Amino acid sequence: MPWSEPHRPFRLDSMALTAGKASRSLREFDLIGRISRRYGRPGASIIQGIGDDAAVVASQPDQWLILTTDLLAEDVHFDRRTATWTDIGFRAAIANLSDIAAMGGTPLYLLTALAIPQRTLGREVDLCYRGMMAACRPYKVRLIGGDTSASSSGWFLSITLIGSVSPQRALFRHGARVGDGIYVTGTLGDSLAGLTLLQSASRTSHKPLSAGQRQMLINRHLRPTARVSVGRWLSQERLATSAIDLSDGLSGDLRHICKESHVGAEVDIAALPLSPACRAFSDEKKTDPSALTLTGGRDYELLFTTPRRLQPKMEHMGRKRGFRITRIGTIIAASQGILARLPDGRRHLLPATSYEHFRGTP
Ligand code: ADP
Ligand code: MG
Repeated sequence: MPWSEPHRPFRLDSMALTAGKASRSLREFDLIGRISRRYGRPGASIIQGIGDDAAVVASQPDQWLILTTDLLAEDVHFDRRTATWTDIGFRAAIANLSDIAAMGGTPLYLLTALAIPQRTLGREVDLCYRGMMAACRPYKVRLIGGDTSASSSGWFLSITLIGSVSPQRALFRHGARVGDGIYVTGTLGDSLAGLTLLQSASRTSHKPLSAGQRQMLINRHLRPTARVSVGRWLSQERLATSAIDLSDGLSGDLRHICKESHVGAEVDIAALPLSPACRAFSDEKKTDPSALTLTGGRDYELLFTTPRRLQPKMEHMGRKRGFRITRIGTIIAASQGILARLPDGRRHLLPATSYEHFRGTP
């Protein structure tokens, strides 16, 4: 029991947090649980405290505030060998915009805190901010504050984003019900494929992956999109019972929805949306593409659940608005577990980490 000893040194498995690994160490979630239990007290105006993509507070009768913060550490969350400062700033902002999107909110204000080594050039900081502001520009998010410090070991970049949502319209991880359809936006696995390409020594493409597809995957990793308009639409039209953004990978993030909603899930592996580029990448690497879609993190797509009676309306409206939305499964009873239905019809427990590790039948 790691947390029964108060003075035991805490060591996050930083390797599990590197951008290359999709899933975060379970100990990180243990630590958050410990902080939440000990210090996260409820309050009358706190609609959602620790435990969702962002916090929600009832600041005014006609508006709820959404607050989220993220800390990125050099060589843990980003690597300067595979991304420019502009890319790093852009992705950092997207991670927070995506958390606001997952709550169904509108992003409004940004605060940034920076710890930088002494040798840092003004130009590097400029490029990082250029990236952050480029990600925020479509939403007219304004930078309103932050903090700056020296660092004795690499960069640390912390972003706090404040958004708003109409009262009673926020989307949470809890709320999914048995029978709801499970949906995702966009395509999955592209970001991990892009990162793998950036990390591989070879800079050229071989068939079946074309140079254009290679660039598309790299772009999806370095310049992801936050699905703010989908989140706002789902919340305003009351089309979803729960939502989360796919930052750690489908397999892990779906688990959060199931845990908070006290339900199980069945994912149809054949339905997982893949881009042609990701499919070509999997062919080239001779890997199973569903491994990428299940465990690949940092896609920043939304996963949400919609009750059966609203599904035709949601699917129709989504199509009309030009959103790519795919049904990937169904919410089932918690007692049935979190399952994957394979293309041959067999059902297996959905592995927490990797598709290759399918073990046992329910
Ligand atoms: P995300 O992946 O969306 O950034 P996290 O898994 O980091 O979310 O956080 C899950 C929840 O735990 C959120 O509600 C977040 O605010 C909270 N949280 C994470 N770290 C801490 C911390 N050190 N202290 C308090 N709350 C935390
Ligand atoms: Mg999140």
